[in-house]
Amino acid sequence: MGRRKRKQQVYRPQRKPPKIFSCPHCGSNSMKVKEIKVDKEEGTGSATIRCGNCGLEESFPAGPLTEPVDVYGDLIDAFYGEGD
Ligand SMILES: [Zn+2]
Repeated sequence: MGRRKRKQQVYRPQRKPPKIFSCPHCGSNSMKVKEIKVDKEEGTGSATIRCGNCGLEESFPAGPLTEPVDVYGDLIDAFYGEGD
């Protein structure tokens, strides 16, 4: 049995949710979350998502657990309208 060689921890890509989304307005794959700002004390903040192609930009409330994919979800809800 070989000894387990301790591998140096190189940058290990974790399974992250995607950060680039397709824009509901122009359909281009250029939708990116610009920033998620959260006040650590209050636990509230805002997130901005923007399309690099058509310039569609929206901001939504964010919290400490807000991920880019959540911001995108908010955008989709806002864009298409919630419910019927
Ligand atoms: Zn767009």
